[in-house]
Amino acid sequence: MTRLLAVQDLDTSITQLQHRRDALAEASGLAAVEAQLAELEAQRADAAARRAALTATQKALEEQIAGITERRSGIEQRMYAATSSSGRDLQAMNDEVRHLTERRAELEELELVAMLDQDPVDAELAALRERSAPLEAQAEELRAQVAKDELEIDAALAAAVGSRAAEAALLPSALSDRYETLRSRLRGTGAARLVGNRCDGCHLELSSVEVEKIRALPPGEIATCEQCGRILVPG
Ligand SMILES: [Zn+2]
Repeated sequence: MTRLLAVQDLDTSITQLQHRRDALAEASGLAAVEAQLAELEAQRADAAARRAALTATQKALEEQIAGITERRSGIEQRMYAATSSSGRDLQAMNDEVRHLTERRAELEELELVAMLDQDPVDAELAALRERSAPLEAQAEELRAQVAKDELEIDAALAAAVGSRAAEAALLPSALSDRYETLRSRLRGTGAARLVGNRCDGCHLELSSVEVEKIRALPPGEIATCEQCGRILVPG
């Protein structure tokens, strides 16, 4: 029966170690820092998308401006070369040149706006980088700490799992089966100690008659807590 309790204690330690391992990111503050970083990253992605849209607008305008410049110099070349053109043709070409010059000025105005609009977004991106840099460093440190703690817990877990297997192998199979069934049903605790007249599995008191009966059982007989159904081992 002491062996069964040893198995139970090891199972309890194993569960606690696993919980501690799962909670490391939360407990160390890493989860909170990573949440802040994710929020900043979302803001950065948003700003980067706006920046990219402005760059694309600027590029499109530049292409249009280049096209207009090309068309205008084509017309100008024709104007200067066309000694035989009629006055009306020259007038039309002149009008076209003027029109293109006006259009280009409009597009250049728009391009300037698109360029100027990039400045505040660049400032926003720089501010976001400045805010996330120390958090990145902090996260890095915490990740290293968590990894170190994980290694320690894993070593403790491996040792506990090894001892558990060794102890459990020596239990009679009927007892072992019953313990496993109870354990899976009763939140990880299949065997409890009888401490005074209290079951330390459910923390309820047993009647003194029941306690007498359990303490009088011959060694090897299995007692059960009448409140919670766990295997009860007199302490
Ligand atoms: Zn109980």
